[in-house]
Amino acid sequence: MLNGAKVIDLTIPLGPGIIMWPGAPAPEAETLVTVAHDGYFARRVSFFEHTGTHFDAPCHFIEGHTTVDKVPVDSLVRAAAVIDISSRLGDDADGELSLEDVHAFESAHGRIPDGAAVLLRTGWEEFNNDERRYAGAPGDLRFPGFGVESAKFLVEERNIGGLGTDTLGIDPGCATNFPVHSQVTHPKGIWHLENLQNLKLLPPLGAWIVVGVLPLIGGSGSPARVIALLP
Ligand SMILES: [Zn+2]
Repeated sequence: MLNGAKVIDLTIPLGPGIIMWPGAPAPEAETLVTVAHDGYFARRVSFFEHTGTHFDAPCHFIEGHTTVDKVPVDSLVRAAAVIDISSRLGDDADGELSLEDVHAFESAHGRIPDGAAVLLRTGWEEFNNDERRYAGAPGDLRFPGFGVESAKFLVEERNIGGLGTDTLGIDPGCATNFPVHSQVTHPKGIWHLENLQNLKLLPPLGAWIVVGVLPLIGGSGSPARVIALLP
């Protein structure tokens, strides 16, 4: 079935320079052994669970809900629906996916399939080397995201399996109290992917994604290698 499928990496390479959520520690790597000295090379790395292209498990905002190791593996392989609002947004860092955007997507491309991962392309992936544009000024978090109304529609009327975006977070940076995380998706056990890239290489419908998240025991999330397959 996957013979000849195109493989696209949606993952930002992970290193110390990556843009973090304000206040979160940058990843660190320490070389413990080298080929020259020990015959083999290996490092110890440490990272905040929400670093780079990463996965949010439902317990991230809902105490006692599913931890990342308990997320069923079959929920990590999903058809992708890619909604591109980058040209409508332009420079609007406070913009959000509206219900009208979702209806326009379905009129143009067809109904979002049950269980799909809905990936929002805002165009912010173009700025993921420029902290000020990607995240906003210090103390003034600014980037686009999912509006509450559209997220509710996707969860309640389309039975989606996950949400993803090319920004620091699913909720717009200017939103207070993370309304989508805390009220719409995580309470229903729905996961997120944040800081995706290369969404411009995906069609609106027809691709699949494989979410290679680490099953950290008891974890709230983890960096993930997210791979898209285009049959
Ligand atoms: Zn996160």
